[in-house]
Amino acid sequence: MLRLEGVSKRYSRPDGARVALDDVSLSLDRGQLLGVFGPSGAGKTTLLRVASGLRSPDSGTVVYNGERLDRMPASELARFRRREIACVWATQPVQERMSVLDHVALPLLVDGCGRRSTERRVREALLACAVERCTGMELRDLSDGERQRVALARGLVTEPRLLLADSPTSSLSLAEQEDIMSLLAALAREARVAVLITATDAQTLLRADPVLYLRDGRLIGSESPSVRGKVYRFPAVRSRQAASDA
Ligand code: ADP
Ligand code: MG
Repeated sequence: MLRLEGVSKRYSRPDGARVALDDVSLSLDRGQLLGVFGPSGAGKTTLLRVASGLRSPDSGTVVYNGERLDRMPASELARFRRREIACVWATQPVQERMSVLDHVALPLLVDGCGRRSTERRVREALLACAVERCTGMELRDLSDGERQRVALARGLVTEPRLLLADSPTSSLSLAEQEDIMSLLAALAREARVAVLITATDAQTLLRADPVLYLRDGRLIGSESPSVRGKVYRFPAVRSRQAASDA
């Protein structure tokens, strides 16, 4: 579904050029939860920027369902952004005075979704991420952990086929990390979403398979812990299944 081949990316800065990605290749299919871990500065955020089509690689290709992202016509790329992919960034500027409901609703409203179904889907996404209690709050009222969950809910609300999440568990307690990882694993397995997440440590990624190690822009190792566990049921998955069972 998503394939990166020989992707390199460097940034030039006044203090010299930095190689952020060096000949990176990987592939991600529906139903897969791929984890990439590496220390700060390893290139994780750059990897997601390039994989999402937000930045073009200097060399190499990024192919989504057989089509090169950097050659996609603007209108198609816009559709890809609205309908196919969701990105959850580690540092996303937010409007602190906005309500959680409006914040999570935004991608749907931009896509022309009606008020009622928007509100229903927002509530489902917040429920799936276990932050339904925050629905009526403003963003400035949230703890770091709740922010990460709300950010994830905002990613899930459009029911993307491809979810890229940059260190989505970095501000969470161990128990909460485990929760979110179960949720992402279930999203991949049950809703057949392709999920790519990053973390600074491998421990967080026990449920991911495969787990790749990124250092100095190079993917240098892999392991397959293949841990299976607790199962979440997504409202969206349930309704999709009900529709296909009917
Ligand atoms: P990570 O997310 O793993 O911390 P990044 O992808 O943010 O890694 O960064 C990889 C390398 O690229 C680092 O050396 C970083 O300093 C550099 N870098 C990242 N973004 C930029 C940028 N916008 N301009 C210049 N250098 C950057
Ligand atoms: Mg980063």
